[in-house]
Amino acid sequence: MESGWPESLIRDVPDFPTEGIVFKDITPLLDDGDALRWAADELADRFSGTSVDRVVGVEARGFILGAAVAYRLGCGFVPFRKPGKLPYCTRSVDYQLEYGTASLEAHTDALAAGQRVLVVDDVLATGGTAAAAVELVNAGGAEVTGVGFLIELGFLEGREKIKVGADCPVISLFCFGGDE
Ligand code: AMP
Repeated sequence: MESGWPESLIRDVPDFPTEGIVFKDITPLLDDGDALRWAADELADRFSGTSVDRVVGVEARGFILGAAVAYRLGCGFVPFRKPGKLPYCTRSVDYQLEYGTASLEAHTDALAAGQRVLVVDDVLATGGTAAAAVELVNAGGAEVTGVGFLIELGFLEGREKIKVGADCPVISLFCFGGDE
């Protein structure tokens, strides 16, 4: 693999969506077929030793990577969405974002009790979103067996907020500003 690739396809956009936030824009990486395939394959490979019945993707960019990882692992995909987007009965969890507050919703019948779930999103920042996703999985009686990100902003220490078992891998392919 060429040095710096595909990390070089992650673009920093300063002051988006609010001043002081450096937004990690993954659209150049998504635009590159080899890079997109690498990201999906790499994430799927990292969880190849993990029991997974369903992949949860967090709206919106978590859908793109999560669906590709679910395809690779040969299991179903469950969207966790912003409020008011899912058509059937939902349950929700409120959480803090790096830049504001938000809620995540899931269909009440999306995950069955006992199912093993891999949660996928593009960026781990403060960890509020991932923590809310884990809470939503647990609320339906399913179990998180893995959490995967393309990017981790290590300096925000978001992984500390993700309450999963000691044997549940929390993996990021690229970590900026941290030890990983
Ligand atoms: P957090 O809950 O703070 O961990 O934020 C993670 C969620 O917000 C993910 O769904 C990301 O897509 C988005 N996000 C937060 N911070 C950033 C950032 N600096 N660049 C890109 N996306 C971000």
